[in-house]
Amino acid sequence: MSKPRFAILDDYQGIAAPHFAHVEDRVEIAHFPETLDPRDDAQRDALIERLRPFDVILAMRERTPFTRETLAQLPNLKLLLTTGTRNLSLDIAYCAERGIPVAGTARRPVGTPSTVQHTWALILALARHVPRDDAALKAGAYWQGSLGVSLAGKTLGIVGLGKLGSSVAKIAIEAFSMKVIAWSANLTQEKADQAAEGLGLAKGSFVAVSEKLDFFARADVVSLHNVLSERSRGVVGKEELSAMKTTGLLVNTSRGPLINEEALLEVLNAGGIQGAAIDVFDPEPLPLDSRWRTTAWGRDGRSEVILSPHMGYGDEQIHGWYDELHSPDSIKMAPIAVQEPTSTPTPLYPPATHPGLIRVSRSTKAFASGAYSEVSLPAGSLFAKITTATPGTKAYTSVQTGRDTHIELNSDLVFCNHSCTPSLNFDMHKMEVRVVDERPLSAGDALTFFYPSSEWEMDQAFQCNCGSGDKCKGLIKGAKGMSRKDLEGYWLNPHIEELLSERDAAN
Ligand SMILES: [Zn+2]
Repeated sequence: MSKPRFAILDDYQGIAAPHFAHVEDRVEIAHFPETLDPRDDAQRDALIERLRPFDVILAMRERTPFTRETLAQLPNLKLLLTTGTRNLSLDIAYCAERGIPVAGTARRPVGTPSTVQHTWALILALARHVPRDDAALKAGAYWQGSLGVSLAGKTLGIVGLGKLGSSVAKIAIEAFSMKVIAWSANLTQEKADQAAEGLGLAKGSFVAVSEKLDFFARADVVSLHNVLSERSRGVVGKEELSAMKTTGLLVNTSRGPLINEEALLEVLNAGGIQGAAIDVFDPEPLPLDSRWRTTAWGRDGRSEVILSPHMGYGDEQIHGWYDELHSPDSIKMAPIAVQEPTSTPTPLYPPATHPGLIRVSRSTKAFASGAYSEVSLPAGSLFAKITTATPGTKAYTSVQTGRDTHIELNSDLVFCNHSCTPSLNFDMHKMEVRVVDERPLSAGDALTFFYPSSEWEMDQAFQCNCGSGDKCKGLIKGAKGMSRKDLEGYWLNPHIEELLSERDAAN
């Protein structure tokens, strides 16, 4: 049998190869770092020609979209991988029809997201004229050009107050003493308050402005953080840009088509606002003859323009995503499609972490993987010590170890699913997994534990179908939402017992 063929697309920095070196003997890997845009007929033909032989394709975010038309001409495709858990540029419905599983990476980088960091890099670069002064100094031109903009007291306008938008806004308040206003089609003051309070800021920190043009007229700096959809396409057009202050700064690290490009080029050519910093374009990579590249920005009355090549996404974190794509939890934990494949793709799985103890049954179907015991043990006995855990955040893959602490198991133990009649207890204080006290474990038994025994409030609630008959608790969302009666008879971690006592005392 010939080896399955695996195409890695759009890896601009050429960093993927070492992450997949361990499967090279089993999988034939090809790299295509140069993006082809299927919206262009000639490029689409070339893309199909290029990808037709491949069984597995790894897409990098939205760099190459996969529409029905493209996918229909890839008869060998058996598995589509992507980075992240949401990718609107893949036709998931069509993949489901064809039985092609689509999987993404679930892990979130810790700390300030790279797009937020890059947004601030651009706001500050514009406000402090960093690229322009840098070029002038190196060219032997002026010593000081125009004065820097002081951000304190100025108003930052956020279009799209989601996770990234709120995070940019929080920094504006805490680091630069700015005011924050926000606009999006359905934003209310209540939602803006929720966003602020969710980040530990006072109610009223983010002011929702209902009139769109009023919002653009009031902001000194406008930053876009919308998801691109048919509704948000061109959300910033000629009217909005004309409403901005002539001293206004505009930053887009979200998606190019959120702004009507013609209107923006016109306003910037006329010097209608002071400056713009643009990280996202359509198409990408930006063609060499694009007017963004060829116009003499900042001269002859034109606005100052800073360009970066979609670096909000070009971050070291991409290494982590490539790592996750071959980690034990990726196929199980980030299912994007819900159908069984027509044939099983050759797995890229790493070696078993508990050979002779845990047998993992893998499925590309959503949440259908599981772990089974290779051994028989008496009730209450030690099954395994947890030795490979690292600190984690609340996520579908992590296990809660205290009131505010979570770990990633980093082993095949991650395949132990929930059951309302579990075979194991996960003791996250002693860091050990034990057979339940009620009955012994037999070789071949499913390895399961009762998720609310460690999880207070789960990242993703789910409807249980563990097959425990009237013992099944139905919707599983963590111990917080369960009555004492529901939890009766289950071994619970000390932090869950403690939180339950507090809950009961408060009621
Ligand atoms: Zn159940």
